[in-house]
Amino acid sequence: MRKKTALIHGGITTDAQTGAVSLPIFQASTFKQKSVGDFTYEYGRTGNPTREGVESFIAAIEQGTHGFAFASGMAAIHAVMQLFEAGDHLLITDDVYGGTYRLMTKILAKNNISVSFVDTADHAAIEAAITSATKAIFIETPTNPLLKVTDIRAVAQLAQQHNLTLIVDNTFSTPYWQNPLVLGADIVVHSATKYLGGHSDVVAGLVAVKDEQLAEQLHFIQNGAGAVLSPHDSWLLIRGMKTLGVRMEEIEHNANKLAAFLVAHPKVEKVYYPGLSSHKGHTIHEAQASGFGGIISFTVATEEQALALLQRTKFFTLAESLGAVESLISLPAKMTHASIPRERRLALGIEDGLIRISVGLEDIEDLIEDLTQALQ
Ligand SMILES: *Cc1c(COP(=O)(O)O)cnc(C)c1O
Repeated sequence: MRKKTALIHGGITTDAQTGAVSLPIFQASTFKQKSVGDFTYEYGRTGNPTREGVESFIAAIEQGTHGFAFASGMAAIHAVMQLFEAGDHLLITDDVYGGTYRLMTKILAKNNISVSFVDTADHAAIEAAITSATKAIFIETPTNPLLKVTDIRAVAQLAQQHNLTLIVDNTFSTPYWQNPLVLGADIVVHSATKYLGGHSDVVAGLVAVKDEQLAEQLHFIQNGAGAVLSPHDSWLLIRGMKTLGVRMEEIEHNANKLAAFLVAHPKVEKVYYPGLSSHKGHTIHEAQASGFGGIISFTVATEEQALALLQRTKFFTLAESLGAVESLISLPAKMTHASIPRERRLALGIEDGLIRISVGLEDIEDLIEDLTQALQ
């Protein structure tokens, strides 16, 4: 089954019993047993048919065997982290999503799980950071907001040599463009709030794996800790995911044009977009993904200029988050990355005048006109 077909026919997203082409919302917390212990579903936290629909769907489109749905992307990442124990050490991409940084440094640190943040594009740096306690490598590629690229195949090889679990946050590329499990990763995580949901109306997290034992452990954690996705949100997510392919194609088309426009604009200093041949990770990204996505970051000279621009756009909504039908614009230093100390932020390259856009499905001519007037 090819990608576009898998997005329509992958997983269980229709109802075998009634023939309903849209899997119903099974709004039930408990299920009748035929006799004691004789049941398909038992209790809503343990399993729900609508949730299983979206779980089988993510497994299919990530080319894994098992999927898990959680109440948010952070709940999904937190559940994956429960695979580790006190004393374990993890390596993490240095400019990882801010919420992941906070989870690792402020919450998991209390469980005595330690982390080192490394530039995962630098394989020597990864090797140098591995200790006898290291159990896993957690990467994000491309990253937020600078779109730094990590070579998933190369890091998977390293992980295998050192017997480490490789976890990839695939939120930015989506399974439509990139399949980390196929490239050698063990676990893929998603903030499904972004492109998978795609309509700014649901907060959700998904995990996919290809290994039976990992799947068993994750189901145990999902049921035991209980941060499951509700039946209604599972249904909304399925509905969103079915159009992932057409949305990503159109978003990419718009993003390529906007990136070229920004590169040519005299007030724009730097443009970060993996689709530009000048982008540092362009070649590696091209070798591991079939598309470049819809996130572009660029800098203007000062924070004042950036703030003024953000006030002037009409079709780019000033908001956090990304990956939706509407174009969004944000100032990472003051919004998504405000909790990172300025010095660390600057060291990572997140300047005060850095603007991030998430390209939506509007007419590209309107988007270009809007940025043209806002940049004036
Ligand atoms: C948004 C995001 C998360 C967190 O997901 P939530 O659904 O907001 O909990 C994790 N990773 C990345 C890359 C994200 O963009």
